[in-house]
Amino acid sequence: MNRKPFSIAIDGPAGAGKSTVAKAVATELSAMYLDTGAMYRAFGLYMLRRGANKDKSAIIAAVDDVDITVEFIDGAQHIFLGGEDVTQAIREPEVSMAASDVSAVPEVRERMVALQRKIAEGHDVIMDGRDIGTKVLPNATLKIYLTASVEERARRRCLELAQKGNPEPYEKVLEDMKARDYQDTHRAASPLRPADDAVTVDTTNNTLEESVAEIRRLALEAIDRR
Ligand code: C5P
Repeated sequence: MNRKPFSIAIDGPAGAGKSTVAKAVATELSAMYLDTGAMYRAFGLYMLRRGANKDKSAIIAAVDDVDITVEFIDGAQHIFLGGEDVTQAIREPEVSMAASDVSAVPEVRERMVALQRKIAEGHDVIMDGRDIGTKVLPNATLKIYLTASVEERARRRCLELAQKGNPEPYEKVLEDMKARDYQDTHRAASPLRPADDAVTVDTTNNTLEESVAEIRRLALEAIDRR
């Protein structure tokens, strides 16, 4: 049967559960899951290694040089920077803010958005990020704005870091998260905000299973309605 692929946009601040929920629902719906934050993180890591993640002109100069590719290996997204698999390296806490720094530069966003649309073309896809519903997939089958209180998001991030053997104090994680939220919502280029036609889901009091179930229900309804 020849049918138009569906696309689901999940936006929201860090730690709201976007990637875990998106990954679970994508598996259930046999869709591609694209973590767009990983691409900004790879760019951020590139600039961080050069000590130039706050230098706007150096960032713009790097746009045409930096080589970022995405591959799916056994169903998992891997991200390569100049051929090096940086899937783990981009998860270091200092890369989060560097990703936010580079992502405020319009030239970087233009390149990333084009790459994201190209990767997803022709596929059923669930993409998560900050501008998926507002910019990358304006005609998405479903747009979700997934959020939670900043305290709860920081608590989850602390737990995740501790589980990875990389614990950080709660107060530091909370401050970093507030700073990144501020930067992501106040930039001029595609600031984080819910799309006008997004469904907002607050996961503060949800278990992960409850959030997955809610997004799955919304996704199936939207796919049926197409
Ligand atoms: O989603 P994640 O926390 O990995 O994203 C890292 C940073 O990349 C975000 O804080 C944001 O600044 C940027 N980003 C973005 N647009 C996206 C995805 C991520 O600006 N679509």
